[in-house]
Amino acid sequence: MTQFRLETRADGLQRVVTDGLAAQNGRECALELMDGVTADNAERVLRYISDYLTASGQKIMAGETMRYGWSTLRFAQDNNDPALSIEELEEPFATASDTFRRGAAKAIAILRAQDETVRRNGLSTIAHHPHRSERAVICRRLSPTATWKVLVFDRIKARQAEQSGWFVGCGSSTHNHNDVAELASLHLVYLSERDPRIVPYLALPEDTRVVFEPSKVIVFAPGVQAGQVDNAALRA
Ligand SMILES: [Zn+2]
Repeated sequence: MTQFRLETRADGLQRVVTDGLAAQNGRECALELMDGVTADNAERVLRYISDYLTASGQKIMAGETMRYGWSTLRFAQDNNDPALSIEELEEPFATASDTFRRGAAKAIAILRAQDETVRRNGLSTIAHHPHRSERAVICRRLSPTATWKVLVFDRIKARQAEQSGWFVGCGSSTHNHNDVAELASLHLVYLSERDPRIVPYLALPEDTRVVFEPSKVIVFAPGVQAGQVDNAALRA
């Protein structure tokens, strides 16, 4: 059973360190409290890592990565530090992102925004938080280069394998989305790069519809005909 303890470095920076993970992993893991990350936030991340390693029987080594919600974490080994420190993707919404920075503030903020979006829209179930590399099925009329006026997101089924369960349509009622020749498969990060507004909505449960218009976002709860404008989306 992994416990957690708070440490303060000589320079005043605090971090939360696992206590007991080394028994199975060989090393403890540490997350520094920077960029607004609280001790509670850090414990949630470290507990996820610990539970994952326990369940899988894997060990994590310096330089290796692990998915955490939308983003990816990496483990770094500092000189004279018995613990592995956590880093995260510097630009989690960019397709070309392959640089990491210290901490996990962005990854934590994305998970919180997704959970908050579910609650704010009155939905009781938080679904799987897809990783940026998971796929959506997308209408081919949504050109990779032209401007998108309307995006209609439907969570058509629960996640399986590398599929996020999201379908992205063009919004035209006359376009036949049952014709597979009209559809393509795309990593979610290509959508976030074009419109980062979508990411907080990606943990909404099955049968939810989200319509992105240039000036508003409309959420249709499962089984409900009338959509609700999500005003908080514009303030965010
Ligand atoms: Zn279409």
